[in-house]
Amino acid sequence: MPPSISISDAFDGGNIKFVEQRPNKNDPAAIDVIVHIKPDVYTELEEIAHMQYFAFRVTIGDLDGPQKINYVVENADQVSYPEAWSGTTVFYSDHVEDVDSWTRNQDTFYTEGTLHWEHEHDSNGSFFFSYFPPYSYARHLTLISKCAQYAHVQTLGQSLEGREIECISLGSGPLVCWIIHRQHPGETMAEHYAEGVLTRLLGLETEGQVDSKVKKLLNMYTFYIVPCMCPDGAVLGHLRTNACGANLNREWATKGEYEAPTMERSPEVFSVLKKMDETGVDCFLDIHGDEELPYNFTSGANFVPNWNKRLESLLGAFTSAYSRANSDMQQKIGYPPPDSPEEVVKYLNVATNQVAYRFDCLAVTLEMPFKDCLSNPDPERGWSPARSRKLGASVLEPLEYVHPYLRAEGDFWTNLPQEDAYVVTTDDYEGEEHADEQEFKLLKKRFYSDVHEIHKKLSMSGQR
Ligand SMILES: [Zn+2]
Repeated sequence: MPPSISISDAFDGGNIKFVEQRPNKNDPAAIDVIVHIKPDVYTELEEIAHMQYFAFRVTIGDLDGPQKINYVVENADQVSYPEAWSGTTVFYSDHVEDVDSWTRNQDTFYTEGTLHWEHEHDSNGSFFFSYFPPYSYARHLTLISKCAQYAHVQTLGQSLEGREIECISLGSGPLVCWIIHRQHPGETMAEHYAEGVLTRLLGLETEGQVDSKVKKLLNMYTFYIVPCMCPDGAVLGHLRTNACGANLNREWATKGEYEAPTMERSPEVFSVLKKMDETGVDCFLDIHGDEELPYNFTSGANFVPNWNKRLESLLGAFTSAYSRANSDMQQKIGYPPPDSPEEVVKYLNVATNQVAYRFDCLAVTLEMPFKDCLSNPDPERGWSPARSRKLGASVLEPLEYVHPYLRAEGDFWTNLPQEDAYVVTTDDYEGEEHADEQEFKLLKKRFYSDVHEIHKKLSMSGQR
């Protein structure tokens, strides 16, 4: 008798649609399980229903012996960034809530428009697969409760579905540093990162005892930290949007006829920006994950109307100091900066651009990989929740380093070492060795992780 196989996404952050199960054509002993990723609610501004994040549970019963299952994500070519699948390895775990239990299936392939991997099940019970280990709402609430023991926790407002937008504030320094996470809910590594920042800053694992660097920083800065900007999308298993389909990282300013942020569509951003206007901002970090590039990198507010040598030097010094503090950060690979101020004026609705422009301050988007991190490869775990936390904890070093310069008068950059100079990033990470092989070369130019126009048109007209 064949085993029973049941697929479910009815848990926090779950996303999958079961399509069918059938015998594998090549291997009579194997079973194919066909699934589809579910789209987010349609995004009016970008005219696309985003999708790419998935997480699901399989429950197996009546096993006679080991059973090979070939999992096939059949609509993988219709996602927001299909070109990002190459090099992706899916995570699996038998304990969804243990964020450090996940390992990667290294035989994950993207071929003929499907993402697929084989798993041999040798025991009955539940098993989980994900694009990146989920960060559940229960874990979020636990984190908030722990933070409340050692710092001021306030809610800045509520999401569309009524979840609180919590902000943890601490420190008594004259400079104001805002760190926000997970505007894009499927980028779960961003909240794992938040946990790392908060654990170190508040001494969450040491009964409130903090290291000497933290004590110093709390006299330099007053921190405002939002661990999850999009709790609704997080629970719903969305890739990029809140409950009504708003991509929060395009809601920071009105664009043409499209008014933003608004309480009706993007209260999450509305509430945070309102508080920022009260506190002012001297340094801003917006934490994300990138589907495609297998590196950690920063991206600045290049060419916003007030962009100058000062802001460029701050970005260079921050990224350089971060790379020295944690070898998982680097300066060469990242989004290529936009060509001109004309391009950027269209993107003042992106948080980093809006905050840099509004407060004339250092503003940084930080991206972590979904894939393995090629700076320090580890095929078995790849980029992971643990390394995301570690990267979060080590952000305090670059914050200490740039502190004297954030509001410095004069040409402070002339006194900085050469290694702190801003490096223009490239997304051509496969470099020269593949220069002649067109299929390996990522020939594209995109800003702020926008979906390629060509792909969008094709998917809208149902051609892919
Ligand atoms: Zn993002």
